Amino acid sequence: MIIHLKACVALAFSFALAVGATVYANAAEIEEFDAIFRHGLVVDGSGEEPYVGTVAVRDGRLSVLKGDAPNWIAGMDTDAAGKVIAPGFIDLHTHARADLMDPQGSAMTNYLTQGVTTVVIGNDGDGAVDITRRFTDIQEHGAGTNVVQYIGHGALRRAVMSRTDRAATEAEIATMQGLLESALQQGAAGLSSGLFYADGSFATTQEVIELCKTVARYGGVYDSHIRAESSRGVGVLAAIDEAIRIGRESGAAVHIAHIKVLGRDVWGKAQEVVAKIQAARDQGLRITADQYPWIASSTQLKSAVLSKEWQAGGSQVWRARLRDPATRTLMLEDMRINIDRRGGPESFLLLETGDARWKGLRLAEVAAIRGEPPEVAAAHLLDAGTVRVVSFNMQEEDIGVFMRQPWVATSSDGTNGHPRKFGSFPRKYHRYVRELNLIPVEQFVRSSSGLSADILGLKDRGYLRNGYIADLLVFDPNLFRERASFQEWNRLSAGVDYLMLAGNLVIDKGTLTGLRKGKSLGPCPGSCSVVGSNGISK
Ligand SMILES: [Zn+2]
Repeated sequence: MIIHLKACVALAFSFALAVGATVYANAAEIEEFDAIFRHGLVVDGSGEEPYVGTVAVRDGRLSVLKGDAPNWIAGMDTDAAGKVIAPGFIDLHTHARADLMDPQGSAMTNYLTQGVTTVVIGNDGDGAVDITRRFTDIQEHGAGTNVVQYIGHGALRRAVMSRTDRAATEAEIATMQGLLESALQQGAAGLSSGLFYADGSFATTQEVIELCKTVARYGGVYDSHIRAESSRGVGVLAAIDEAIRIGRESGAAVHIAHIKVLGRDVWGKAQEVVAKIQAARDQGLRITADQYPWIASSTQLKSAVLSKEWQAGGSQVWRARLRDPATRTLMLEDMRINIDRRGGPESFLLLETGDARWKGLRLAEVAAIRGEPPEVAAAHLLDAGTVRVVSFNMQEEDIGVFMRQPWVATSSDGTNGHPRKFGSFPRKYHRYVRELNLIPVEQFVRSSSGLSADILGLKDRGYLRNGYIADLLVFDPNLFRERASFQEWNRLSAGVDYLMLAGNLVIDKGTLTGLRKGKSLGPCPGSCSVVGSNGISK
Protein backbone atom coordinates (compact mmCIF):
# COMPACT_ATOMS: atom_id res chain seq x y z
CA MET A 1 0.00 0.00 0.00
CA ILE A 2 1.23 3.50 -0.78
CA ILE A 3 1.70 5.81 2.15
CA HIS A 4 0.73 9.37 1.43
CA LEU A 5 4.05 11.10 2.14
CA LYS A 6 3.02 14.68 2.69
CA ALA A 7 0.37 13.86 5.28
CA CYS A 8 2.62 11.31 6.86
CA VAL A 9 5.51 13.69 7.34
CA ALA A 10 3.36 16.56 8.59
CA LEU A 11 1.55 14.41 11.14
CA ALA A 12 4.68 12.64 12.22
CA PHE A 13 6.26 15.99 12.82
CA SER A 14 3.41 17.38 14.92
CA PHE A 15 3.10 14.12 16.90
CA ALA A 16 6.82 14.14 17.56
CA LEU A 17 6.57 17.70 18.85
CA ALA A 18 3.61 16.93 21.07
CA VAL A 19 4.52 13.66 22.73
CA GLY A 20 8.09 12.92 21.88
CA ALA A 21 9.88 10.87 19.28
CA THR A 22 8.66 7.44 20.49
CA VAL A 23 5.36 7.71 18.60
CA TYR A 24 7.16 8.47 15.37
CA ALA A 25 6.96 4.82 14.25
CA ASN A 26 3.14 4.71 14.65
CA ALA A 27 2.62 8.05 13.00
CA ALA A 28 4.69 6.89 10.06
CA GLU A 29 1.97 4.37 9.27
CA ILE A 30 -0.64 7.08 8.67
CA GLU A 31 -2.43 6.35 5.45
CA GLU A 32 -4.63 8.71 3.55
CA PHE A 33 -7.77 7.60 1.73
CA ASP A 34 -10.61 9.20 -0.19
CA ALA A 35 -13.25 7.82 2.18
CA ILE A 36 -13.39 5.74 5.36
CA PHE A 37 -16.30 3.96 7.05
CA ARG A 38 -15.51 3.05 10.66
CA HIS A 39 -17.01 0.86 13.38
CA GLY A 40 -19.50 -0.77 10.99
CA LEU A 41 -20.48 -4.43 10.88
CA VAL A 42 -18.40 -5.67 7.98
CA VAL A 43 -20.24 -8.40 6.05
CA ASP A 44 -17.74 -9.10 3.34
CA GLY A 45 -19.60 -11.27 0.80
CA SER A 46 -17.79 -14.50 1.64
CA GLY A 47 -20.52 -15.80 3.94
CA GLU A 48 -18.12 -15.81 6.85
CA GLU A 49 -18.96 -14.36 10.24
CA PRO A 50 -19.30 -10.55 10.20
CA TYR A 51 -16.99 -8.43 12.32
CA VAL A 52 -16.74 -4.82 13.43
CA GLY A 53 -14.18 -3.15 11.24
CA THR A 54 -13.05 -0.38 8.94
CA VAL A 55 -13.51 -0.12 5.20
CA ALA A 56 -11.64 2.54 3.25
CA VAL A 57 -11.56 3.61 -0.38
CA ARG A 58 -8.74 5.08 -2.40
CA ASP A 59 -8.69 5.54 -6.16
CA GLY A 60 -11.79 3.38 -6.42
CA ARG A 61 -10.29 0.41 -4.61
CA LEU A 62 -10.94 -1.06 -1.17
CA SER A 63 -8.88 -1.47 1.97
CA VAL A 64 -10.47 -3.53 4.70
CA LEU A 65 -9.39 -3.99 8.30
CA LYS A 66 -10.77 -5.86 11.31
CA GLY A 67 -11.25 -3.48 14.23
CA ASP A 68 -10.26 0.16 14.32
CA ALA A 69 -7.77 1.89 12.04
CA PRO A 70 -6.66 5.02 13.91
CA ASN A 71 -3.84 5.64 11.45
CA TRP A 72 -6.15 5.84 8.47
CA ILE A 73 -7.33 9.33 7.56
CA ALA A 74 -9.65 10.67 4.86
CA GLY A 75 -11.54 13.78 3.85
CA MET A 76 -14.75 11.76 4.15
CA ASP A 77 -14.50 9.96 7.47
CA THR A 78 -17.79 8.34 8.47
CA ASP A 79 -18.80 6.68 11.70
CA ALA A 80 -20.80 3.64 10.56
CA ALA A 81 -21.42 2.24 14.05
CA GLY A 82 -24.62 0.19 14.02
CA LYS A 83 -24.62 0.03 10.21
CA VAL A 84 -23.89 -2.89 7.90
CA ILE A 85 -21.02 -2.46 5.42
CA ALA A 86 -21.32 -4.83 2.48
CA PRO A 87 -20.22 -5.17 -1.14
CA GLY A 88 -22.59 -3.51 -3.62
CA PHE A 89 -25.25 -6.04 -4.63
CA ILE A 90 -25.29 -7.80 -7.98
CA ASP A 91 -28.70 -8.55 -9.50
CA LEU A 92 -28.40 -11.67 -11.66
CA HIS A 93 -31.75 -11.38 -13.41
CA THR A 94 -33.36 -8.12 -14.50
CA HIS A 95 -35.33 -6.81 -17.41
CA ALA A 96 -33.59 -3.43 -17.19
CA ARG A 97 -32.67 -3.09 -20.86
CA ALA A 98 -35.51 -0.71 -21.70
CA ASP A 99 -34.77 1.43 -18.63
CA LEU A 100 -31.09 1.60 -19.56
CA MET A 101 -32.02 2.92 -23.02
CA ASP A 102 -34.24 5.62 -21.54
CA PRO A 103 -32.76 9.02 -20.55
CA GLN A 104 -34.50 8.96 -17.14
CA GLY A 105 -34.78 5.24 -16.51
CA SER A 106 -31.06 4.73 -17.01
CA ALA A 107 -30.45 6.43 -13.64
CA MET A 108 -31.54 3.04 -12.23
CA THR A 109 -32.73 4.59 -8.96
CA ASN A 110 -34.94 1.57 -8.25
CA TYR A 111 -31.81 -0.61 -8.13
CA LEU A 112 -29.45 1.80 -6.37
CA THR A 113 -31.92 2.22 -3.51
CA GLN A 114 -31.88 -1.56 -3.08
CA GLY A 115 -28.10 -1.46 -2.69
CA VAL A 116 -27.58 -2.88 -6.18
CA THR A 117 -24.49 -1.66 -8.05
CA THR A 118 -24.50 -4.19 -10.92
CA VAL A 119 -27.38 -5.57 -12.96
CA VAL A 120 -27.42 -8.41 -15.45
CA ILE A 121 -29.51 -7.96 -18.59
CA GLY A 122 -30.34 -10.23 -21.50
CA ASN A 123 -31.92 -13.00 -19.43
CA ASP A 124 -34.66 -15.45 -20.46
CA GLY A 125 -33.16 -15.98 -23.92
CA ASP A 126 -33.65 -12.37 -24.90
CA GLY A 127 -30.14 -10.90 -24.72
CA ALA A 128 -28.76 -8.94 -27.68
CA VAL A 129 -26.66 -10.80 -30.22
CA ASP A 130 -24.45 -7.75 -30.78
CA ILE A 131 -22.97 -7.27 -27.30
CA THR A 132 -20.70 -4.35 -28.16
CA ARG A 133 -23.50 -2.40 -29.76
CA ARG A 134 -25.77 -2.95 -26.78
CA PHE A 135 -23.02 -1.80 -24.41
CA THR A 136 -22.57 1.32 -26.56
CA ASP A 137 -26.33 2.03 -26.62
CA ILE A 138 -26.54 1.63 -22.86
CA GLN A 139 -23.76 4.12 -22.28
CA GLU A 140 -25.55 6.78 -24.34
CA HIS A 141 -27.30 8.34 -21.32
CA GLY A 142 -24.86 7.05 -18.72
CA ALA A 143 -25.93 4.07 -16.65
CA GLY A 144 -26.73 4.32 -12.95
CA THR A 145 -25.41 0.81 -12.29
CA ASN A 146 -22.82 -1.43 -13.84
CA VAL A 147 -24.20 -3.74 -16.50
CA VAL A 148 -23.40 -7.35 -17.38
CA GLN A 149 -24.91 -8.95 -20.47
CA TYR A 150 -25.96 -12.37 -21.59
CA ILE A 151 -26.47 -13.19 -25.22
CA GLY A 152 -29.91 -14.79 -25.69
CA HIS A 153 -30.70 -18.17 -27.18
CA GLY A 154 -34.08 -16.93 -28.41
CA ALA A 155 -32.41 -13.90 -30.00
CA LEU A 156 -29.86 -16.16 -31.70
CA ARG A 157 -32.65 -18.30 -33.10
CA ARG A 158 -34.46 -15.23 -34.42
CA ALA A 159 -31.24 -13.95 -35.99
CA VAL A 160 -30.43 -17.21 -37.75
CA MET A 161 -33.65 -19.11 -38.43
CA SER A 162 -36.38 -18.07 -40.82
CA ARG A 163 -38.96 -19.61 -38.49
CA THR A 164 -38.35 -20.38 -34.84
CA ASP A 165 -41.26 -22.77 -34.29
CA ARG A 166 -39.10 -25.80 -35.02
CA ALA A 167 -35.78 -27.35 -34.02
CA ALA A 168 -32.66 -25.78 -35.55
CA THR A 169 -30.76 -27.63 -38.26
CA GLU A 170 -27.09 -28.51 -37.89
CA ALA A 171 -26.13 -25.68 -40.20
CA GLU A 172 -28.21 -23.20 -38.19
CA ILE A 173 -26.62 -24.39 -34.95
CA ALA A 174 -23.16 -23.86 -36.47
CA THR A 175 -24.12 -20.30 -37.48
CA MET A 176 -25.47 -19.65 -33.99
CA GLN A 177 -22.23 -20.96 -32.48
CA GLY A 178 -20.26 -18.44 -34.54
CA LEU A 179 -22.37 -15.51 -33.31
CA LEU A 180 -22.22 -16.83 -29.78
CA GLU A 181 -18.45 -17.12 -29.86
CA SER A 182 -18.17 -13.54 -31.06
CA ALA A 183 -20.49 -12.36 -28.23
CA LEU A 184 -18.42 -14.17 -25.63
CA GLN A 185 -15.31 -12.52 -27.02
CA GLN A 186 -17.06 -9.15 -26.67
CA GLY A 187 -17.65 -9.75 -22.97
CA ALA A 188 -20.98 -11.59 -22.68
CA ALA A 189 -21.03 -13.51 -19.41
CA GLY A 190 -22.70 -16.43 -21.09
CA LEU A 191 -25.81 -17.63 -22.89
CA SER A 192 -29.32 -17.18 -21.52
CA SER A 193 -32.25 -19.30 -22.59
CA GLY A 194 -36.01 -19.13 -22.16
CA LEU A 195 -37.03 -22.68 -22.95
CA PHE A 196 -40.46 -21.90 -21.51
CA TYR A 197 -41.03 -19.10 -24.01
CA ALA A 198 -42.09 -19.47 -27.60
CA ASP A 199 -38.76 -18.94 -29.41
CA GLY A 200 -36.78 -21.21 -27.11
CA SER A 201 -39.46 -23.79 -26.44
CA PHE A 202 -39.10 -25.33 -29.90
CA ALA A 203 -35.41 -26.06 -29.39
CA THR A 204 -34.29 -29.58 -28.63
CA THR A 205 -32.08 -30.26 -25.65
CA GLN A 206 -29.31 -31.25 -28.07
CA GLU A 207 -29.43 -27.84 -29.77
CA VAL A 208 -28.83 -26.15 -26.41
CA ILE A 209 -26.05 -28.61 -25.53
CA GLU A 210 -24.23 -27.83 -28.78
CA LEU A 211 -24.42 -24.09 -28.09
CA CYS A 212 -23.33 -24.57 -24.49
CA LYS A 213 -20.19 -26.34 -25.66
CA THR A 214 -19.12 -22.98 -27.06
CA VAL A 215 -20.07 -21.32 -23.75
CA ALA A 216 -17.94 -23.87 -21.89
CA ARG A 217 -14.89 -23.13 -24.04
CA TYR A 218 -15.02 -19.52 -22.83
CA GLY A 219 -15.69 -20.39 -19.21
CA GLY A 220 -19.13 -18.73 -19.48
CA VAL A 221 -22.37 -19.59 -17.77
CA TYR A 222 -25.56 -21.06 -19.20
CA ASP A 223 -28.41 -19.14 -17.55
CA SER A 224 -31.83 -20.67 -18.10
CA HIS A 225 -35.46 -19.89 -17.55
CA ILE A 226 -36.09 -23.61 -17.63
CA ARG A 227 -38.67 -25.38 -19.74
CA ALA A 228 -41.23 -25.66 -16.93
CA GLU A 229 -41.62 -24.27 -13.42
CA SER A 230 -45.00 -25.85 -12.75
CA SER A 231 -46.68 -29.16 -13.66
CA ARG A 232 -47.33 -27.83 -17.18
CA GLY A 233 -45.48 -29.21 -20.18
CA VAL A 234 -42.62 -31.49 -19.15
CA GLY A 235 -43.03 -30.35 -15.53
CA VAL A 236 -40.52 -28.65 -13.27
CA LEU A 237 -38.62 -31.79 -12.20
CA ALA A 238 -37.94 -32.90 -15.79
CA ALA A 239 -36.97 -29.33 -16.65
CA ILE A 240 -34.36 -29.39 -13.87
CA ASP A 241 -33.10 -32.73 -15.22
CA GLU A 242 -32.76 -31.15 -18.65
CA ALA A 243 -30.70 -28.25 -17.27
CA ILE A 244 -28.43 -30.70 -15.46
CA ARG A 245 -28.00 -32.76 -18.63
CA ILE A 246 -27.10 -29.64 -20.61
CA GLY A 247 -24.38 -28.84 -18.07
CA ARG A 248 -23.09 -32.38 -17.95
CA GLU A 249 -22.88 -32.88 -21.72
CA SER A 250 -21.61 -29.42 -22.63
CA GLY A 251 -19.24 -28.73 -19.73
CA ALA A 252 -20.75 -25.28 -19.15
CA ALA A 253 -21.66 -23.98 -15.70
CA VAL A 254 -25.46 -24.03 -15.34
CA HIS A 255 -27.52 -21.37 -13.65
CA ILE A 256 -31.26 -21.73 -13.04
CA ALA A 257 -33.06 -18.41 -13.24
CA HIS A 258 -35.65 -17.42 -10.60
CA ILE A 259 -35.92 -20.90 -9.15
CA LYS A 260 -39.41 -21.74 -7.94
CA VAL A 261 -42.15 -24.34 -7.80
CA LEU A 262 -45.12 -22.65 -9.40
CA GLY A 263 -48.73 -23.70 -8.89
CA ARG A 264 -50.81 -26.03 -6.77
CA ASP A 265 -49.63 -29.31 -8.28
CA VAL A 266 -45.99 -28.72 -7.34
CA TRP A 267 -46.29 -26.83 -4.06
CA GLY A 268 -44.09 -28.55 -1.47
CA LYS A 269 -41.73 -29.92 -4.11
CA ALA A 270 -38.90 -27.45 -3.50
CA GLN A 271 -37.07 -30.08 -1.48
CA GLU A 272 -37.16 -32.49 -4.42
CA VAL A 273 -35.78 -29.85 -6.77
CA VAL A 274 -33.03 -29.02 -4.28
CA ALA A 275 -32.13 -32.71 -3.90
CA LYS A 276 -31.69 -33.08 -7.67
CA ILE A 277 -29.44 -30.04 -7.90
CA GLN A 278 -27.48 -31.00 -4.80
CA ALA A 279 -26.84 -34.47 -6.20
CA ALA A 280 -25.50 -32.94 -9.43
CA ARG A 281 -23.31 -30.55 -7.43
CA ASP A 282 -21.99 -33.43 -5.36
CA GLN A 283 -20.91 -35.05 -8.62
CA GLY A 284 -18.92 -31.95 -9.50
CA LEU A 285 -21.35 -30.14 -11.80
CA ARG A 286 -21.24 -26.35 -11.48
CA ILE A 287 -24.89 -25.52 -10.98
CA THR A 288 -26.42 -22.57 -9.15
CA ALA A 289 -29.68 -20.62 -9.10
CA ASP A 290 -31.15 -17.24 -8.28
CA GLN A 291 -34.42 -16.32 -6.65
CA TYR A 292 -36.66 -13.34 -5.99
CA PRO A 293 -38.30 -13.23 -2.55
CA TRP A 294 -41.96 -12.91 -3.47
CA ILE A 295 -44.85 -15.40 -3.63
CA ALA A 296 -46.15 -13.90 -6.86
CA SER A 297 -44.60 -14.01 -10.31
CA SER A 298 -45.35 -11.67 -13.17
CA THR A 299 -45.78 -12.50 -16.81
CA GLN A 300 -48.09 -12.11 -19.77
CA LEU A 301 -51.52 -13.65 -19.30
CA LYS A 302 -51.01 -15.41 -22.63
CA SER A 303 -47.85 -17.18 -21.39
CA ALA A 304 -49.53 -18.06 -18.10
CA VAL A 305 -52.70 -19.65 -19.41
CA LEU A 306 -52.18 -20.72 -23.03
CA SER A 307 -50.12 -23.82 -23.74
CA LYS A 308 -47.27 -23.41 -26.24
CA GLU A 309 -48.94 -25.26 -29.11
CA TRP A 310 -51.77 -22.72 -29.10
CA GLN A 311 -49.38 -19.74 -29.13
CA ALA A 312 -47.48 -20.77 -32.25
CA GLY A 313 -47.53 -18.39 -35.21
CA GLY A 314 -47.71 -15.09 -33.35
CA SER A 315 -50.44 -13.03 -31.75
CA GLN A 316 -52.68 -12.53 -34.79
CA VAL A 317 -52.71 -16.24 -35.48
CA TRP A 318 -53.50 -17.36 -31.94
CA ARG A 319 -56.13 -14.65 -31.51
CA ALA A 320 -57.82 -15.89 -34.69
CA ARG A 321 -57.59 -19.44 -33.33
CA LEU A 322 -59.22 -18.29 -30.10
CA ARG A 323 -62.18 -16.89 -32.05
CA ASP A 324 -62.52 -19.90 -34.35
CA PRO A 325 -65.26 -22.25 -33.00
CA ALA A 326 -63.23 -25.23 -34.27
CA THR A 327 -60.38 -24.52 -31.86
CA ARG A 328 -61.95 -22.23 -29.26
CA THR A 329 -63.45 -25.00 -27.11
CA LEU A 330 -60.15 -26.86 -26.87
CA MET A 331 -58.27 -23.66 -26.05
CA LEU A 332 -60.77 -22.68 -23.36
CA GLU A 333 -60.36 -26.10 -21.75
CA ASP A 334 -56.56 -25.66 -21.86
CA MET A 335 -56.92 -22.24 -20.24
CA ARG A 336 -59.32 -23.56 -17.58
CA ILE A 337 -56.75 -26.19 -16.53
CA ASN A 338 -53.86 -23.72 -16.50
CA ILE A 339 -55.79 -21.10 -14.50
CA ASP A 340 -56.65 -23.76 -11.95
CA ARG A 341 -53.05 -25.02 -11.80
CA ARG A 342 -51.73 -21.57 -10.96
CA GLY A 343 -54.12 -21.25 -8.05
CA GLY A 344 -57.45 -20.22 -9.60
CA PRO A 345 -58.82 -16.95 -11.05
CA GLU A 346 -58.42 -15.13 -7.71
CA SER A 347 -54.63 -15.54 -8.00
CA PHE A 348 -54.32 -13.36 -11.14
CA LEU A 349 -53.99 -9.60 -10.63
CA LEU A 350 -54.32 -7.70 -13.92
CA LEU A 351 -51.53 -5.13 -14.30
CA GLU A 352 -51.95 -4.10 -17.87
CA THR A 353 -54.94 -4.74 -20.09
CA GLY A 354 -55.88 -3.86 -23.65
CA ASP A 355 -59.24 -2.72 -22.29
CA ALA A 356 -58.30 -0.27 -19.49
CA ARG A 357 -61.52 -0.98 -17.56
CA TRP A 358 -60.15 -4.23 -16.17
CA LYS A 359 -56.78 -2.97 -15.01
CA GLY A 360 -56.14 -3.54 -11.30
CA LEU A 361 -58.84 -6.21 -10.93
CA ARG A 362 -58.44 -9.92 -10.29
CA LEU A 363 -59.41 -12.31 -13.04
CA ALA A 364 -62.08 -13.67 -10.69
CA GLU A 365 -63.64 -10.20 -10.45
CA VAL A 366 -63.70 -9.76 -14.22
CA ALA A 367 -65.38 -13.15 -14.56
CA ALA A 368 -67.98 -12.22 -11.91
CA ILE A 369 -68.72 -8.83 -13.49
CA ARG A 370 -69.09 -10.38 -16.94
CA GLY A 371 -70.99 -13.39 -15.60
CA GLU A 372 -68.67 -15.81 -17.37
CA PRO A 373 -66.38 -18.68 -16.39
CA PRO A 374 -62.81 -17.41 -15.71
CA GLU A 375 -61.37 -18.92 -18.88
CA VAL A 376 -63.96 -17.16 -21.03
CA ALA A 377 -63.21 -13.87 -19.28
CA ALA A 378 -59.48 -14.54 -19.87
CA ALA A 379 -60.16 -15.15 -23.58
CA HIS A 380 -62.04 -11.84 -23.71
CA LEU A 381 -59.11 -10.02 -22.09
CA LEU A 382 -56.57 -11.64 -24.43
CA ASP A 383 -58.62 -10.69 -27.46
CA ALA A 384 -58.53 -7.01 -26.44
CA GLY A 385 -54.72 -6.73 -26.38
CA THR A 386 -51.61 -7.51 -24.37
CA VAL A 387 -52.36 -8.45 -20.79
CA ARG A 388 -49.72 -8.53 -18.05
CA VAL A 389 -50.52 -10.18 -14.76
CA VAL A 390 -49.12 -10.69 -11.32
CA SER A 391 -49.82 -14.29 -10.51
CA PHE A 392 -49.86 -15.44 -6.87
CA ASN A 393 -48.65 -18.96 -7.38
CA MET A 394 -45.90 -19.79 -4.88
CA GLN A 395 -45.74 -20.82 -1.24
CA GLU A 396 -43.48 -19.13 1.23
CA GLU A 397 -42.31 -22.46 2.61
CA ASP A 398 -40.89 -23.45 -0.78
CA ILE A 399 -39.27 -20.03 -1.11
CA GLY A 400 -37.57 -20.67 2.23
CA VAL A 401 -36.28 -24.10 1.16
CA PHE A 402 -34.57 -22.57 -1.89
CA MET A 403 -33.31 -19.52 -0.03
CA ARG A 404 -31.42 -21.55 2.55
CA GLN A 405 -29.25 -23.24 -0.09
CA PRO A 406 -25.72 -21.81 -0.27
CA TRP A 407 -25.88 -21.89 -4.08
CA VAL A 408 -29.00 -19.73 -4.42
CA ALA A 409 -28.32 -16.05 -5.20
CA THR A 410 -30.67 -13.06 -5.02
CA SER A 411 -32.30 -11.52 -8.07
CA SER A 412 -35.18 -9.18 -8.78
CA ASP A 413 -36.46 -10.36 -12.19
CA GLY A 414 -37.64 -6.75 -12.15
CA THR A 415 -40.56 -5.93 -14.43
CA ASN A 416 -43.02 -3.05 -14.41
CA GLY A 417 -46.07 -3.66 -12.27
CA HIS A 418 -44.39 -6.00 -9.77
CA PRO A 419 -42.79 -4.66 -6.55
CA ARG A 420 -39.81 -6.97 -7.10
CA LYS A 421 -38.36 -4.34 -9.44
CA PHE A 422 -38.09 -1.87 -6.55
CA GLY A 423 -37.78 -3.95 -3.42
CA SER A 424 -36.34 -7.46 -3.83
CA PHE A 425 -33.02 -7.11 -1.98
CA PRO A 426 -34.39 -5.08 0.96
CA ARG A 427 -37.38 -7.40 1.16
CA LYS A 428 -35.17 -10.47 1.37
CA TYR A 429 -33.27 -8.80 4.20
CA HIS A 430 -36.25 -7.40 6.08
CA ARG A 431 -38.54 -10.40 5.79
CA TYR A 432 -36.20 -13.40 5.74
CA VAL A 433 -33.26 -12.19 7.85
CA ARG A 434 -35.02 -9.92 10.34
CA GLU A 435 -38.65 -11.04 10.59
CA LEU A 436 -38.43 -14.79 10.01
CA ASN A 437 -34.79 -15.38 10.94
CA LEU A 438 -34.56 -17.84 8.05
CA ILE A 439 -31.01 -16.97 6.99
CA PRO A 440 -28.26 -15.00 8.75
CA VAL A 441 -27.15 -11.62 7.46
CA GLU A 442 -23.89 -13.05 6.12
CA GLN A 443 -25.79 -15.48 3.91
CA PHE A 444 -28.09 -12.71 2.71
CA VAL A 445 -25.10 -10.57 1.75
CA ARG A 446 -23.18 -13.45 0.20
CA SER A 447 -26.19 -14.50 -1.90
CA SER A 448 -26.49 -10.90 -3.11
CA SER A 449 -22.83 -10.20 -3.87
CA GLY A 450 -19.93 -12.68 -3.59
CA LEU A 451 -21.85 -15.68 -4.86
CA SER A 452 -23.25 -13.67 -7.77
CA ALA A 453 -19.78 -12.39 -8.71
CA ASP A 454 -18.48 -15.97 -8.64
CA ILE A 455 -21.32 -17.17 -10.86
CA LEU A 456 -20.63 -14.43 -13.42
CA GLY A 457 -16.87 -14.80 -13.23
CA LEU A 458 -16.34 -11.17 -12.12
CA LYS A 459 -12.84 -11.12 -10.74
CA ASP A 460 -12.58 -8.08 -8.47
CA ARG A 461 -16.12 -7.33 -7.34
CA GLY A 462 -18.65 -8.86 -4.98
CA TYR A 463 -16.39 -8.96 -1.93
CA LEU A 464 -14.95 -6.51 0.57
CA ARG A 465 -11.31 -7.40 0.04
CA ASN A 466 -8.14 -5.39 -0.22
CA GLY A 467 -7.61 -4.16 -3.74
CA TYR A 468 -11.12 -5.03 -4.94
CA ILE A 469 -13.19 -2.40 -6.74
CA ALA A 470 -15.07 -0.18 -4.31
CA ASP A 471 -18.64 -1.05 -5.19
CA LEU A 472 -19.70 -0.48 -1.62
CA LEU A 473 -22.93 -0.45 0.36
CA VAL A 474 -23.67 0.87 3.85
CA PHE A 475 -27.19 0.24 5.10
CA ASP A 476 -29.09 0.69 8.33
CA PRO A 477 -30.20 -2.76 9.53
CA ASN A 478 -33.22 -1.28 11.29
CA LEU A 479 -34.47 0.66 8.29
CA PHE A 480 -33.43 -1.37 5.24
CA ARG A 481 -36.70 -2.58 3.75
CA GLU A 482 -38.90 -2.43 0.70
CA ARG A 483 -41.68 0.11 0.46
CA ALA A 484 -43.09 -1.19 -2.82
CA SER A 485 -46.12 -3.45 -2.64
CA PHE A 486 -48.56 -5.05 -5.06
CA GLN A 487 -50.73 -1.94 -4.64
CA GLU A 488 -47.82 0.50 -5.12
CA TRP A 489 -45.18 -1.41 -7.03
CA ASN A 490 -42.86 1.50 -7.83
CA ARG A 491 -41.94 2.97 -4.44
CA LEU A 492 -38.24 3.26 -3.77
CA SER A 493 -36.79 1.20 -0.94
CA ALA A 494 -35.48 2.67 2.32
CA GLY A 495 -32.41 2.23 4.47
CA VAL A 496 -29.38 2.62 2.19
CA ASP A 497 -27.15 5.30 3.77
CA TYR A 498 -24.22 5.14 1.36
CA LEU A 499 -23.64 3.48 -1.96
CA MET A 500 -20.51 3.70 -4.07
CA LEU A 501 -19.67 2.61 -7.58
CA ALA A 502 -15.90 2.26 -7.88
CA GLY A 503 -15.56 4.74 -5.03
CA ASN A 504 -18.04 7.30 -6.45
CA LEU A 505 -20.86 8.18 -4.08
CA VAL A 506 -24.20 7.51 -5.77
CA ILE A 507 -26.10 7.56 -2.46
CA ASP A 508 -24.78 9.94 0.18
CA LYS A 509 -26.42 10.08 3.64
CA GLY A 510 -29.50 8.39 2.22
CA THR A 511 -29.85 10.73 -0.77
CA LEU A 512 -29.30 9.88 -4.41
CA THR A 513 -26.53 12.07 -5.78
CA GLY A 514 -27.55 11.67 -9.42
CA LEU A 515 -24.11 10.44 -10.49
CA ARG A 516 -24.16 7.88 -13.27
CA LYS A 517 -21.03 5.83 -12.86
CA GLY A 518 -22.13 2.46 -14.24
CA LYS A 519 -19.68 0.57 -16.41
CA SER A 520 -20.10 -2.23 -18.88
CA LEU A 521 -18.69 -5.30 -17.22
CA GLY A 522 -17.64 -8.50 -18.87
CA PRO A 523 -15.67 -11.27 -17.30
CA CYS A 524 -13.19 -10.66 -20.13
CA PRO A 525 -14.33 -7.66 -22.21
CA GLY A 526 -12.71 -7.32 -25.58
CA SER A 527 -10.10 -10.00 -25.22
CA CYS A 528 -11.48 -13.19 -23.82
CA SER A 529 -9.12 -16.08 -24.14
CA VAL A 530 -10.38 -19.60 -24.52
CA VAL A 531 -10.42 -21.42 -21.20
CA GLY A 532 -10.11 -25.09 -20.43
CA SER A 533 -12.85 -27.15 -18.79
CA ASN A 534 -11.26 -26.34 -15.44
CA GLY A 535 -12.07 -22.67 -16.02
CA ILE A 536 -8.41 -21.64 -16.13
CA SER A 537 -7.24 -19.46 -19.02
CA LYS A 538 -4.93 -21.19 -21.45
ZN1 LIG B 1 -37.69 -15.62 -16.66
